[in-house]
Amino acid sequence: MFIMMNAARYAVGVQGIAIAERAYQKAVVYAKDRVQSRPVDGTLSAAAPIIHHPDVKRMLMTMRSFTEGCRAMAAVAAAAYDAAHHHPDADTRKQNAAFYEFLVPLIKGYSTEMSLEVTSLGVQVHGGMGFIEETGAAQYYRDAKILTIYEGTTAIQANDLVGRKTARDGGTGAKAIAAQIEKTEGLLAQRDSANAKAVLKRLKAAREAFVDVVEFIAANTRSNPNAAFAGSVPYLMLAGNLMAGWQLARSLLVAEDLLAQGTDVAFMQAKITTARFYADHILSRAPGTRDAIVDGAEAVTALAIESF
Ligand SMILES: Cc1cc2nc3c(=O)[nH]c(=O)nc-3n(C[C@H](O)[C@H](O)[C@H](O)COP(=O)(O)OP(=O)(O)OC[C@H]3O[C@@H](n4cnc5c(N)ncnc54)[C@H](O)[C@@H]3O)c2cc1C
Repeated sequence: MFIMMNAARYAVGVQGIAIAERAYQKAVVYAKDRVQSRPVDGTLSAAAPIIHHPDVKRMLMTMRSFTEGCRAMAAVAAAAYDAAHHHPDADTRKQNAAFYEFLVPLIKGYSTEMSLEVTSLGVQVHGGMGFIEETGAAQYYRDAKILTIYEGTTAIQANDLVGRKTARDGGTGAKAIAAQIEKTEGLLAQRDSANAKAVLKRLKAAREAFVDVVEFIAANTRSNPNAAFAGSVPYLMLAGNLMAGWQLARSLLVAEDLLAQGTDVAFMQAKITTARFYADHILSRAPGTRDAIVDGAEAVTALAIESF
């Protein structure tokens, strides 16, 4: 049954990534066309296409980096699935199978939740036209909403992450993944670039936040299940955020090397900028999410049911 469920969950996660990409492409076209207001830096004396405004660029970068991060996470999971089945070494097959199993609820849960944020931003970039059905931006937003519901709601993915994927082995598998992330941090630390240093700072903080939450989940799932499950979806979001940000950090390392060789310069610069944006704007959410899970469980469950 879980072979079928994993395939379906993976596929729905990829639907989220696909719809996010489509919403991004549509928003970019509109932002280059729609003229409104003069740029704040005074570079143009007349109204300019809205892509000149920093907040519109912020929205487009959020859409772009979320989509690229989740796509990279899904590709890495697919490679792990292949290695789990076809690698000649039995231990390597086992490690890849565990890694793939850990990633599936994140690809389903995190990628579809991010597709809602991305498609919502797509509507926002279009302003009032985004709310008009004929424009098509709102259709993406509505279509993205079903992805967090069918093939198991986000909470059901999070229950799987907490129970089968984290608490069952006392967090050992999750911490083994954290150790792999630490190796990427080591590679980033050897770089001189400001971008690598910035990404390292955020990746390290997010990985430490993840480990804190894994320990909290492992310690509480049996003894205080309401506390552990009160943080289940935030834990899924933190873990998905970290896995996507980790892949973008790896892409920064590759892009810096290829840039130094003069390969595909504009593409590599865009990869580096996108990884940096994700680190500063999205990966930086992780420590706050950790605090909400570890310190905030009681506030979730404290209110008596009669008080709702
Ligand atoms: C357009 C569409 C197409 C669909 N296609 C198919 C299909 O082809 N085949 C098929 O079998 N099904 C299909 N479904 C059903 C879909 O999989 C379910 O709607 C989905 O799994 C949610 O179940 P539910 O609707 O019973 O919601 P509920 O289980 O009632 O969930 C309601 C809320 O309670 C939360 N919740 C429930 N249980 C828990 C829990 N244990 N812990 C934490 N929170 C919980 C949920 O997260 C959700 O927020 C489809 C649904 C839609 C809308």
